[in-house]
Parts: sequence; C-alpha cells; structure tokens
Amino acid sequence: MKNCLFCKIAAGELTSKIVYDSENIIAFHDINPQAPVHILIIPKIHISTLNDLKPEHKKLMGELILVAKKLAQKEGISDAGYRTGFNCNEAGGQTVYHIHLHLLGGRDFGWPPG
Ligand code: 5GP
Ligand code: ZN
Repeated sequence: MKNCLFCKIAAGELTSKIVYDSENIIAFHDINPQAPVHILIIPKIHISTLNDLKPEHKKLMGELILVAKKLAQKEGISDAGYRTGFNCNEAGGQTVYHIHLHLLGGRDFGWPPG
C-alpha cells in the first residue's frame, strides 16, 4: 500500500534491522524499543488492523505467531518469558496502521498493561 511505513519496510524501501524474512512475513527491531528485546513481526501484505482480518488470513496469522515463538527462542527469552501483543485502533494504542505483532522481552512486565 502506498504511503504505508511498514509496507515500505517489507519492500526494502526503508531500512530497518531485519531479524527474520520469509515469503510472507518479515520481522525487525522496533525503532523505539520498550524492552531490551522489542521486535515487530508483520505480514508482507497490507492489513490495517486486527479488525480487517478475514478467514483467508488464518494461515498467515498462524505463521506470524510461530515466528514470534521462533524469535523468542533465538533471542534467548523463551524460558524467562515474554510479552506479545497486537494494538488495535486508537484506544488500543495503535500508531502504525499495518498489522504487527509486538514481541517484547528481557525484563518483567506488569499486568494489567497501562
Ligand atoms: P503500535 O503503536 O502501532 O502498536 O506500534 C508501532 C510501533 O512501530 C511502535 O512501537 C514504534 O516505535 C514502531 N515504529 C514506528 N516507526 C518505525 C520505523 O520507522 N521503524 C521501526 N523499526 N519501527 C517503527
Ligand atoms: Zn502496509
């Protein structure tokens, strides 16, 4: 999608610290990390929010979560534990409207989140 920051990252038009790249999914370090490990995992196709998911995205979103698991292992945070999350729309804290899964680790997290 034109003018979408994460579509540009997925297309290699904007630089980012990429940690995973496959046919359908790319993952990169968050530019403003909120924890020692903060990775964003995105589908290469443009989907704006969780609200826009369709049944046809089922396999893709399953893959996305498995990438989170794989990267948590790679980053050495699997055993200690980590936080994953999708922010959806304004009240959910979404600022980039291309669906992304946050993978955060390397510190303790509170609950409920702020
Ligand atoms: P959201 O608030 O939409 O759930 O998360 C968007 C995330 O994208 C934020 O954590 C923010 O720091 C990150 N971000 C925004 N712009 C860029 C960018 O240009 N590059 C990277 N790597 N991360 C970005
Ligand atoms: Zn996009």
